[in-house]
Amino acid sequence: MSTKSMTNQDNFAPNRVAVIGGGAAGMMAALTAAENGATVTLYERMGRLGRKLRITGKGRCNVTNDCDTNEFLANVMTNPRFLYTALDRFSTADTKDFFERNGVPLKTERGRRVFPVSDKAADIVAALADACHRAGVRVVYERVRSLWLEDGVLLGVETAQGKCEADAVIVCTGGKSYPLTGSDGDGYTLAGQVGHTVTPLTPSLVPITAKGSLCPELQGLSLENVRLTVVSLASGKTVFEDFGEMMFTHFGLTGPLVLSASAHIHDIAPGKYEAHIDLKPALDEKTLDARVLSDFDKYRNKDFLNALGDLLPQKLIPVMVRESGIDGRTKVHTVTREQRKALVTTLKCLRVPLVGFRPIEEAIVTSGGVSVREVNPKTMQSKCMPGLFFAGEVLDVDAYTGGFNLQIAFSTGYVAGESAAFYEKE
Ligand SMILES: Cc1cc2nc3c(=O)[nH]c(=O)nc-3n(C[C@H](O)[C@H](O)[C@H](O)COP(=O)(O)OP(=O)(O)OC[C@H]3O[C@@H](n4cnc5c(N)ncnc54)[C@H](O)[C@@H]3O)c2cc1C
Repeated sequence: MSTKSMTNQDNFAPNRVAVIGGGAAGMMAALTAAENGATVTLYERMGRLGRKLRITGKGRCNVTNDCDTNEFLANVMTNPRFLYTALDRFSTADTKDFFERNGVPLKTERGRRVFPVSDKAADIVAALADACHRAGVRVVYERVRSLWLEDGVLLGVETAQGKCEADAVIVCTGGKSYPLTGSDGDGYTLAGQVGHTVTPLTPSLVPITAKGSLCPELQGLSLENVRLTVVSLASGKTVFEDFGEMMFTHFGLTGPLVLSASAHIHDIAPGKYEAHIDLKPALDEKTLDARVLSDFDKYRNKDFLNALGDLLPQKLIPVMVRESGIDGRTKVHTVTREQRKALVTTLKCLRVPLVGFRPIEEAIVTSGGVSVREVNPKTMQSKCMPGLFFAGEVLDVDAYTGGFNLQIAFSTGYVAGESAAFYEKE
């Protein structure tokens, strides 16, 4: 890229930078460009900034992850090496510092996940929006319909109101998931205008559909402190195993554990994978058997169906009775050792056959996007069109849960904003 000197800018008129998309990446890009002397217009198609940011982390916003670069990159599923420079320029520590300096105290929770102390994602949005405002970013609530190109030269952007000139344009339109937040895939069309390759778009961090009546029966039931293992039926290999929280829905499984698991399953199809849920991961089979025995002793004259209340949530009891193969009306004192063993086995491994993913619209992130081979990782500038930059989820990079995806948006947004401010037309 040809850049204006980053130290001696006085001889240059400020660059006019158009930023498309007022999400995490767009606000960071706009702010950084403005702080580096550019005249910035931020285009946001929704009536307010940061619609998706507001719902992140269940409204609490897991804003970054307090880990070093190597650990960070190990949590990036697609194209981690592309992010090396961006994370160096604007690190997880920089993100923390930015929000703390802008009046949002942060706290670090399990897995080094960083949240605002207030538990309010809206505070994160307000900090970014206020910083943009103070830096002089002009926000225009309009949808950018296309890039303004003439004779193969980028002149600016086009909205329903007409053409708007810019020296540099940064596309921060996000992915294709949760389209009601405004991110419905416009950026891929804009990239396509100048010949960029868009790699196949697939859902990642997405709920999983399951076969059979078990999930509909248990819909609404949320389980904390369970172990979820996903096993490939062909190879018998475990593709995912972790401990945490999950939920049953009418279509299958969701919740943090399940979303994380989805990112590890690459070729989901009916008959290929099974979820094994360990309902009592803290107890090994022997200890669990002793626990069941003690409950059976307490309820020895009751029906089996009425003897599991101390061990399981009510909704789960009829299902576990059925899955264990024991008649619910069997008197507890007549349950045999083998039957008890079958119950313990089911408690340690409730099997759910997996079928597929829910659609991309329900995914936390979009996997795939503008090919990183066609974007300079040091500047985020397009290799197809001078003056065009990309940042955030529109790029073909995505990570696991834990604050990594927002950090990617901030780091790439920062680099794109800085580069666009100093971009010099040839
Ligand atoms: C429910 C949910 C929870 C999440 N929780 C977390 C979390 O806790 N931590 C984490 O790290 N990640 C989380 N993520 C992922 C994270 O939100 C995204 O990776 C991140 O927001 C991507 O930032 P972005 O700026 O690239 O895109 P977005 O935040 O999607 O912003 C894109 C913006 O561009 C605008 N736009 C699109 N097209 C146009 C156009 N043509 N003209 C003008 N404006 C346009 C959109 O309206 C939108 O405001 C979550 C995602 C979801 C859906």
